[in-house]
Amino acid sequence: MLKNRMYYAVKPLLPWSLRIALRRIVARRIARKSSGIWPINPATAKPPADWPGWPGGKQFAVVLTHDVEGQRGLARCAELANREAKLGFRSSFNFIPEGDYRVSPTLRREFEARGFEVGVHDLKHDGKLYDSREGFRQHARQINRYLSEWQAVGFRSGFMYHNLDWLHDLDAEYDASTFDTDPFEPQPDAAHTIFPFWVDSPAGSAAKKPGYVELPYTLPQDSTLFMIFQESAGTIWKNKLDWVVRQGGMVLVNVHPDYLHLGPVTSAGGTTVMDHYANLLAYIKETYPGAYWHALPRDVAAFVRSWKKIAPALPSVQ
Ligand SMILES: [Zn+2]
Repeated sequence: MLKNRMYYAVKPLLPWSLRIALRRIVARRIARKSSGIWPINPATAKPPADWPGWPGGKQFAVVLTHDVEGQRGLARCAELANREAKLGFRSSFNFIPEGDYRVSPTLRREFEARGFEVGVHDLKHDGKLYDSREGFRQHARQINRYLSEWQAVGFRSGFMYHNLDWLHDLDAEYDASTFDTDPFEPQPDAAHTIFPFWVDSPAGSAAKKPGYVELPYTLPQDSTLFMIFQESAGTIWKNKLDWVVRQGGMVLVNVHPDYLHLGPVTSAGGTTVMDHYANLLAYIKETYPGAYWHALPRDVAAFVRSWKKIAPALPSVQ
């Protein structure tokens, strides 16, 4: 963690090309050590003991999420949403409340009207969200204001930092800052499951809610595959997807609108992240018609609540 903290402290001072070069060197070293647990960790496949199966008796779930990191990403959200809608999919867009852009109420409402979900991504996205317990309490109060103002129920932190005990401070119905296996993240401790799960509020705590739902992402992040490893074939996503399908788990992917036009990834091919992502969606549709529950993260959270026999969350009072 200390090495990571140091890296993130100097990161803004380094040119982008140097940052990427450093990340590639570190990632190759991690990959060599992690071949048994990434991209597939077989130990994550076991469903929870009381697992009821997916709604409608479907074999697996498909959940699409996006973290909007900067101005560039904001400008590309509509393009990404259009592409998904054309293929019959909907997704959630997580916006940073106090980053270097502002998401307008008009855009948020437009996305919601079209069947997309809007969530909160971190607070400032400066890597400091979890610096101290008291600091997190204060940040949580601010995040809760945005959750209420945006009528959002979902949260994901920047850099996938997570502390499942502290997250009870948030009024969110779900958090999506964990993963089944991802040794490349700055905080690489994984949730070790490809299923959503319920996190109970500690007994006797002052938490206003009984708990929240945790939604780990289960496909490698676009940045890891296409920016760091310069993967040109798109096979890692598909192989992992096929494996999650065979286990009956949750396919949850995170794609950043900011990196959409990244590419060509090799001199031989001009495939961008957008192409890889559209190919993945088309692959799901063509290979597994009728076999999956395509849900927004908030739908998965509501499903977990009903499975755990916890009263539905009350609509937020405006
Ligand atoms: Zn982010």
